[in-house]
Amino acid sequence: MRALRLITEEQVEMTVADAPTPPEGDEVLVAMKAVSLNHIDLFGFRGMAFAKRQLPLTVGVEGAGVVEAVGPDVAHVKVGDPVVVYPGLFCGTCKRCQAGQENLCLDIGGIMGFHVDGLACERVKAPAKRIIPVPGGVSHIQAACTTVTFATVQHMLFDNAKLEPGETILVHAGGSGIGSTAIKMAKQIGATVITTVGSDAKVEQAGALGADHVINYREERFEGRVRRLTGKQGVDVVFEHVGVDTWAGSLLSLRRGGRLVTCGSTTGISAKTNLYQIFQQQLRIFGSFGSSVQNCVDSLAKMAEGITPVIDTTIRLEEFPVAIERLRSRDVFGKIVAEI
Ligand SMILES: [Zn+2]
Repeated sequence: MRALRLITEEQVEMTVADAPTPPEGDEVLVAMKAVSLNHIDLFGFRGMAFAKRQLPLTVGVEGAGVVEAVGPDVAHVKVGDPVVVYPGLFCGTCKRCQAGQENLCLDIGGIMGFHVDGLACERVKAPAKRIIPVPGGVSHIQAACTTVTFATVQHMLFDNAKLEPGETILVHAGGSGIGSTAIKMAKQIGATVITTVGSDAKVEQAGALGADHVINYREERFEGRVRRLTGKQGVDVVFEHVGVDTWAGSLLSLRRGGRLVTCGSTTGISAKTNLYQIFQQQLRIFGSFGSSVQNCVDSLAKMAEGITPVIDTTIRLEEFPVAIERLRSRDVFGKIVAEI
């Protein structure tokens, strides 16, 4: 079968790989239809020192497909069903997994497309517990934005920051895959959304998604504008994933007792923190990574209700390495999805 593989660090090629063997027991064989690009792919391609893995490695962390065959013990999906593959190799038996917190699994075996072979290929085999059915009305392209994009935001906003209707949230990088998702999910529950973007073109686009206030952070200091917009009170929640460039301003944007939730640091990982500000202002900071299976189910339900991912472009799988460079340059609005 065709597979997009990382051959050496930073070198990705379309190659021929062995197709999976027929499914046995509780295994499901999925014909992949679409994979979407994420910053984790960028990190994967750069070769992160902490990633223990063997190359070549099939890339692709987030994707969707159709069930092609099932083992005799599989009951929750059947041949022909559209599905999403959960990329984290959780054990399913530890106390965290039993509590539905698969992204806190005590015995995680790695992440597909990062530590072990991923989804950017024609066929993938996985145990039934990592196969999530896609409801009617959700396309393969949309479903391919579930596990890393929608479910990460679902986990950040509602499990961690516990965003409530009527609260005000600052969403950084409203043109990114997760930023655009956060705007939509926060508006859906009735929050007031302030978002930052990096160009005037994106100001209009973010406004069209429903953001109440859009700040071009290249033109003005976002924390000053946030203070003015909130009558000097600050926001209830900051949605962070930018890192060193925005960290200090994000903390300054919070009201007393406010919550900051972060899932990334695309501009760098070392930022200064004013500790006085943390305790005196009684700030709460949540680190968030990945999502639970239930977050994926809830995300797909939202898509079926019409809260859909913002798609920048659909491409062919062969164009994935070129598109990764676009993601690196941040010349995107929403998700880039490769069709298989
Ligand atoms: Zn576990």
